[in-house]
Parts: sequence; structure tokens; C-alpha cells
Amino acid sequence: MDWTPSREDFNHYMLPNYNPQAVVPVRGEGSRLWDQDGEEYIDFAGGIAVNALGHCHPALVEALTTQGQQLWHLSNVYTNEPALRLARTLVESTFADKVFFSNSGGEANEAALKLARRYAHDKFGAHKDRIVSFRRSFHGRTWFTVSVGGQEKYTQGFGPVPGGIVHGEYNNLESARELVDANTCAIMVEPVQGEGGVTPGDPAFLAGLRQLADEYDALLIFDEVQCGVGRTGELYAYMGYGVTPDILTSAKALGGGFPIGAMLTTDKVAEVFVVGTHGSTYGGNPLACAVALAAVETIGRPDVLAGVAQRAEIFREELERINAKYDCFADIRGKGLLIGAEFNERYHEQGRATLAAAIKQGLMLLAAGPNVLRFAPSLIIPEDDIREGMAKLDAAIGTLDLTS
Ligand SMILES: *Cc1c(COP(=O)(O)O)cnc(C)c1O
Repeated sequence: MDWTPSREDFNHYMLPNYNPQAVVPVRGEGSRLWDQDGEEYIDFAGGIAVNALGHCHPALVEALTTQGQQLWHLSNVYTNEPALRLARTLVESTFADKVFFSNSGGEANEAALKLARRYAHDKFGAHKDRIVSFRRSFHGRTWFTVSVGGQEKYTQGFGPVPGGIVHGEYNNLESARELVDANTCAIMVEPVQGEGGVTPGDPAFLAGLRQLADEYDALLIFDEVQCGVGRTGELYAYMGYGVTPDILTSAKALGGGFPIGAMLTTDKVAEVFVVGTHGSTYGGNPLACAVALAAVETIGRPDVLAGVAQRAEIFREELERINAKYDCFADIRGKGLLIGAEFNERYHEQGRATLAAAIKQGLMLLAAGPNVLRFAPSLIIPEDDIREGMAKLDAAIGTLDLTS
């Protein structure tokens, strides 16, 4: 057992569907991480918008270790206290009357899409099966969710694609209006597109989708897997928009680093999921729900939610400063602490190179496509860590080779 795995071992033992960065982190605390050599990193990536309370937050460690000594798993043959506590908290804090738990965002979306199909089937008939979604959207990697997602590169070579799915243009209500009709069972949308480039939805676009859904008896599904649980400064992004969906999916930050997903909906819609219609062995697992409850309770605190806007302001200020120095960004956008900085022509497609350059400076960063730097840090990242991380980003951008 005196073997220490290294990055090279990834290529030996793991499928080649990822290409991880050169360093292997071994420990994290707050918004800092350390690799195998003891090198320190500032974390602006947050495990892709997951570690909303940073690494090893005491409230989550406490929930995990306490529950870990009591009960790990039961299956859905029995219910359990942590799942019921979390469900009640989510119901009391949102529009929802009912909750279904899964293990990931993709599975929460899979459940949402199946629920929408089943609802339309039972209430209106089998013809009402059409799903409208949007280009550049991302809803997960299961075969149904990847097909509803709007990025062809993720479905290529996996055909045949499931039927009954059409894609409009994001933030273009006319485009949606052309696609929605009496056969539409669901309109699925990210209130803020994450993976596809960090693009906030226009309030009028999201409100218009709500109207279209009502007009045609379709269900409005908000995928808040990335933008939910405090990321925008509200517990869920829909609250800030004042547009209420029929179904909402949540994951990523919901577990603060422990795998869990949830689908929230109303009584009216929930009732078609009668016993046996859907399920998951691990969904509602006590360990996951205990940690998620601690995460939701901590993130939901007024001081934590209010701190998001303050921190986002510092991020933007620093990004503007870097842009003034290098003239590298065409656009800085986002909502709360989900921020995208899109490179301009001169820095075209420098996303991946910037991530590698940032690692060398001691900064962990994300991209959203080849051209957008994405920031999804801890919602409680200290100001000093933001400033220090931005100095590292500044240095990293200074090392980019624009001729390559
Ligand atoms: C990450 C993400 C998903 C998929 O979640 P997984 O946990 O990876 O299955 C779905 N929708 C959105 C908006 C996401 O950002």
C-alpha cells in the first residue's frame, strides 16, 4: 500500500473521457487547496459550482460525521429522517409542495422530463409529448438529458436520439413561440445558462416562457442545477426573476460536495408519479440528505445570501481591472457568483490555456466553452482570497502566448 497515485496513472487506469489538469489536489479548506507536493491553490472553480461553502465547511463535516455514525443507507423501501427534514426545508423555502431526491443533476432532470411527459400523457393524452429546450443549454449526460441539452457535440455519435425534442434560441422569445404548441408537454430552461457560456436569462424571456407554458398547458421546468442554492444571491434564481416554474431541479451546491440532486414540484403535477412510476436506489440517501440539509440551512442564512452580491462586486471590479490592463475580455457577465468573462478576438479560444497557466500560478479556474472563463467560487470566499486569486489570474493571463 506504499503506492502514491499520480496524474500519469489517470491515463493508465481511467477512461479517456476527461483530461484533468496536471496537479492532484489532496486537501482543501475554505477556498484553498493543496496538491501532492504541498503547493497551495486559490479555488475559483468550487468543484464546478458545487462547493458553495468551500472545502470541509465545519457545518457539513459535522453533519457528515454525525450521520456517518448513525445510518448510511436504507433504500426507498423505508423512509428516513434526514430525507424528510431536507424535503420539508425545501418545500417551506420554495414554491414546491413535493420533492423527489436523486444523486445528481442529470438524474434530477431525467426525473423532471419523465414527470412532464407522464403528466401530459395522463392529463391530456399520449400525443402531448413535445419538449422545447434551447441551444447551448446543458442538462446532464444521461441519454435523455443530453438530447434535451442544446449542444450537438454531446450527442454526436450516440444516436439514435430520443424523439420529440426541439431546440429554440436562448433569450429569444419569438423563437420559443414558434416551437411551442398544443403538443408541447414541457419547456425546459436554465434561468442562467452555465456550461453554455454563463448567460443570464432575460427577465422578459423567462416571463414569456411562463406565459407560453400556461397558454398551451405545458409545464415550465427550470434547471437550477448550477444557478440554484444561493449562487445568484437568492436561494433559487427563480426568486430573483419573479417567475415560478412548475418543476425545478437542483443539485451541485445542494450537497455542498456530497452527491445529491432534487426535483421540486407542485402537488398538482406530483400526483401522477404514483407508486412504481420512477425510482432510484440511492435517491434520498440519509448521508446525502443530512449533508444537504446543513448546506441549505447554512447557505439560506440572510448573511450568506447577502454576501454573494458583495463578493460578486469584487470579482467584477478585479476582472475590469485585468481587462483594463490586457484588453482581453469582450464581455463580463453572469449573476451573483456565477460569472463569465468572455475573451475578445485577440484572446480567441484561450480558455483551456488560461486554466493551465492559472494552475501554474496557484489558481483553480473553470471555462465554459473555449472562449469563456467561468467563476463559480465558494459563496463565502474571503475578500483576501478573491484579491489574491485575481492577482494570480492577472499573472496567468500575462503568460499566455497569443501567437499559438
Ligand atoms: C452540471 C449540470 C447538470 C448535470 O448535473 P450532474 O450532477 O453532472 O448530472 C445539469 N444541468 C445543469 C444546468 C448543470 O450545470
